[in-house]
Amino acid sequence: MKIVVVGTGYVGLVSGTCFSQTGIDVVCVDIDKHKIDMLNNGQIPIYEPGLEDIFKYNVEKGRLSFTTNLKDSLSDAEAIFIAVGTPPDEDGSADLKYVLSVAREIGQNMDHYMVVVTKSTVPVGTSQKVKAVILEELKKRNLEVPFDVASNPEFLKEGSAVDDFLKPDRIVVGVESHEAEKTMRQLYKPFLLNGHPILFMDISSSEMTKYAANSMLATKISFMNDIANLCELVGADVGMVRKGIGSDARIGSKFIYPGTGYGGSCFPKDVQALVRTADEYGHSLEILKAVEAVNYRQKEVLVKKIISHFGENLKGLKFAMWGLSFKPKTDDMREAPSLVIIDLLLKAGASVVAFDPVAMDEARRILGDSISYANDEYDACIDADALIVVTEWPEFRMPNFRILEKLLKTKTIFDGRNIYEPEEMQDMKFNYYSIGRKSIIISQ
Ligand code: NAD
Repeated sequence: MKIVVVGTGYVGLVSGTCFSQTGIDVVCVDIDKHKIDMLNNGQIPIYEPGLEDIFKYNVEKGRLSFTTNLKDSLSDAEAIFIAVGTPPDEDGSADLKYVLSVAREIGQNMDHYMVVVTKSTVPVGTSQKVKAVILEELKKRNLEVPFDVASNPEFLKEGSAVDDFLKPDRIVVGVESHEAEKTMRQLYKPFLLNGHPILFMDISSSEMTKYAANSMLATKISFMNDIANLCELVGADVGMVRKGIGSDARIGSKFIYPGTGYGGSCFPKDVQALVRTADEYGHSLEILKAVEAVNYRQKEVLVKKIISHFGENLKGLKFAMWGLSFKPKTDDMREAPSLVIIDLLLKAGASVVAFDPVAMDEARRILGDSISYANDEYDACIDADALIVVTEWPEFRMPNFRILEKLLKTKTIFDGRNIYEPEEMQDMKFNYYSIGRKSIIISQ
């Protein structure tokens, strides 16, 4: 069996590589020649744990290959997955230009039956648009090539994408023909030997499922962040409240950790896109509008605490920042809270020295020399006025506080992920600010 995956980003590259691990042939296509050259030279353009080993193994076996030529890739393919980006348009709705341009190229080149699967996150109705564009191109060629469209949203998480793909909680597939269902069932069978379900449904429901899932997760995060802020005002400890509610099976303990707001390439744009879709249908998604507003505010919470400690004017102050990626185990900085925090600090006249275990190159690309980059977490703290923890990388969880107190100008930590305990900070005489818990103020 042979398939094509178009787009070699976080989703396309991981999907293509994991599919090839089942023994089928996979051709990955991208318009970015630099990426394809890197991949053909054995280099992986993104950081994703576990990807390199199976990538190398399958390339060596000759069943995983990379090209910029979509036309050639199509020969003998039984399915083609569209896994290109769907960034937000100016009004927040999903920009489908990449998806539809791939559909156009497929229509211009296909000459045998295949299933055209949309894996990108797309609004309801997009698969029908993909179908219409392909038909339009076939018509221009005076050809009648049979094909099916399918929707197969991806639920992998950056940072554990390979594991998620190989052992999915569920696979969601929207189809409108038995033949497409058969192909998709066959492709996913090796991933479902653990009994996890493959859910077939109509295409609209499948497209909607992805947005509903991400919006629900974003809602949990914003809800908890809002509760955390109230906890501070009323003198409650959000850590205890989290445990108190998380042990209720109806609520569950996942995704209720307070922090500096959600970021990444998915939640912000998917929540926005769903809100816009609803608006188009004359329905206002009030909950999600609030989720967005709370998240926007939450990204500023640490800076507000910094200002309450140091005063409005941060001129001449230097801050060490631990963590730049939007979450641990990824180098992805799209919509990362670190970017908002850095922007606000620089505007207030401060300087920032940052360290992240894997996102340094990405940070240099985005931020240039507006901040300084440290060699490691301790290096970042030399002569800094305070430490700000933005991403909860495991290696930040148990630092040597004795070293930190010597390096920092003042023993002050702003912890955006609640990875340290206020009592321990009190014992070690650190000023300590976290989210939704009491602040420890030794000296100001
Ligand atoms: P990405 O930006 O990392 O990668 C997209 C790739 O598509 C790029 O390499 C780009 O060069 C390529 N591309 C664009 N137009 C092309 C074309 N015409 N032909 C060939 N290649 C083309 O994106 P991503 O993070 O992998 O996300 C892809 C889709 O999957 C999005 O819709 C996203 O919402 C969704 N998704 C992402 C994640 C995630 O964690 N990143 C998880 C689930 C779903």
